[in-house]
Amino acid sequence: MPQKIVQKEDPVLRRRAAEIPPDQIRSRKIKDTIHKMSAALATSHNGIGLAAPQIGAPLAIFIVSEEARAVQKKADIINDEKERRKKIWKHFVFINPRLIKSSRKKELMPEGCLSVDGIFGKVKRAKQVTVEALDENGQTFCVGASGLFAQVLQHEMDHLDGILFIDKAEGLEKLSNE
Ligand code: ZN
Repeated sequence: MPQKIVQKEDPVLRRRAAEIPPDQIRSRKIKDTIHKMSAALATSHNGIGLAAPQIGAPLAIFIVSEEARAVQKKADIINDEKERRKKIWKHFVFINPRLIKSSRKKELMPEGCLSVDGIFGKVKRAKQVTVEALDENGQTFCVGASGLFAQVLQHEMDHLDGILFIDKAEGLEKLSNE
């Protein structure tokens, strides 16, 4: 059965997500949560990131498809729509993420969310961010991101603070599925 993605009315999306004690990162519960998140993201239409609250788990975990970084790096595969759809993208796992740096330069970027079905808008996002987090093995890592990748990181970090993009977006539009 496909993993359900909770929608914007669900109070779990408005809670501050709980940090995972480092000694529990490799527990069955956290592994299962990450597995469910990956399944949900893989079967979503056009999703490139997903936070744990979006599958009903109020935990400080999000995943980002490597597709977001490929777009940032303008990898060749991105130019080939068919290849892009066919490819099984790996997911980066971010646990207990912290925003280390954020550029003062911001840009207005088009945005949507798997928990806000059919609604799009533009959100001002820092052009570059640096995020530190733990991976699924409990190892600390740090990534610098720009463009789409930076935008996704900011969007997912907001989820962990109970914030949805519609709280900050301008020019919200409803797109019908036709
Ligand atoms: Zn979202």
